[in-house]
Amino acid sequence: MLIRLAPRFLLFFLPFLLALALVFFFFPSPMPEPEAEPLSHEVLEVLEATDFHNALIPALSPPPQWERYTLQTGDRLSHLWQNRMHLPLATLYRLLDQQEGAQRLHRIHPGQHIEWLASRDGQLLALRIWANRAEGHEWVRDGQQFAFSSLSNQREVRYVRLEGVLDGILINSLQNMPEIAGQEGAIAAALDRHLPLRRDARNGDHFSLLVEQEWLSGDPRPYSTRLMAFEYQGDRLQIRAARHTDDRFYTPDGESLIPPFSRIPLMQNFRISSHFNLNRRHPITGRVQPHYGTDFATPIGTPVVAPADGTVLRRGWHPYAGHHVVIAHGQGYETRYLHLNRILVDRGQSVRRGQQIAQTGNSGRSTGPHLHYELHINGRPVNAMRVELPSTERLEGRDLEQFTEQSRQLFATLDQQMTTRQLALSLRSTPSS
Ligand SMILES: [Zn+2]
Repeated sequence: MLIRLAPRFLLFFLPFLLALALVFFFFPSPMPEPEAEPLSHEVLEVLEATDFHNALIPALSPPPQWERYTLQTGDRLSHLWQNRMHLPLATLYRLLDQQEGAQRLHRIHPGQHIEWLASRDGQLLALRIWANRAEGHEWVRDGQQFAFSSLSNQREVRYVRLEGVLDGILINSLQNMPEIAGQEGAIAAALDRHLPLRRDARNGDHFSLLVEQEWLSGDPRPYSTRLMAFEYQGDRLQIRAARHTDDRFYTPDGESLIPPFSRIPLMQNFRISSHFNLNRRHPITGRVQPHYGTDFATPIGTPVVAPADGTVLRRGWHPYAGHHVVIAHGQGYETRYLHLNRILVDRGQSVRRGQQIAQTGNSGRSTGPHLHYELHINGRPVNAMRVELPSTERLEGRDLEQFTEQSRQLFATLDQQMTTRQLALSLRSTPSS
């Protein structure tokens, strides 16, 4: 009875509902919503970026980690800021504008350690510049400003060698290792990221890890933990690799674990209609709402090609992003393609550099045909048009010599059976890179 009544009930009220809707349409509330404005291309892009970006962040991925770099001769901070640290240039200008600390940024020199912590959406949370092992300066985000202070703690670097057997998921195998208490998640994520074919990992596989920890004396926990080298011996996967000064991993003979990348995922150049911009302001609300990708003005049906070898992580539909594809390239590199017309690959499929994966379109919330292309490194969106991309399969010449020299100690340590204390001593006594 109820079921039969429901449609008639609705039909009866429908004219009233329509009338009500018309009244609201012609007599909007005195405070118009931002949506009442005509939606420009930029507004749509903003919607596309923030909503979709947040939807794709894996809920359980580990918190942001400190990253670091040792300043080299000829380094310019503004260049590093954009291409190495992947931070908005506007933040550097803000720090230079602040009375306190600005001169520290003007006076950087080779050999200094610079460390930074960035949020998942690419904003600087904290910055440290060390004058030496014991003294440095720190900027910590406080709203739109940064609190500046001196650091005078002894900064210590320790190396820890870990050995284990894969048991279920990697993080389980790292439990009960007191040297890395509280860091298991970060280390598991690092190894997971750097294993080239993690689907080939099996229970019972053996692994050894060499982890570098940085401590401020007095702190109960290291503030930075980095995987420096690893060996993995399994049924289907055997590999050993070490970190190079470019922060990428290479096998002992210099073969890169990350494939070479093309700059654009298209077969020819197209006009860029909207650039990557972490500081873009919403044209109506004035709030910072970043554009995490590069937009190419492409006619519908333009072939999209994989910029590097990889595996299709996701294909799907999103109200703002439309038809989209996400490809994992290993080593923390991931690319995303939005507003597609047709998708030509399936989830889990391996793709080669240059292989056609989709056709551009105008799907989702988009004002015109274009391709929105994103590159993420270690969970952070970066400017794919500017960032230094992996360009070779293997190190050669001077780079290879340097890597062979520097990785020798790392590999030797990985192979040795030593206590943590002995290890820390032996590595600290060698000249640091
Ligand atoms: Zn876009």
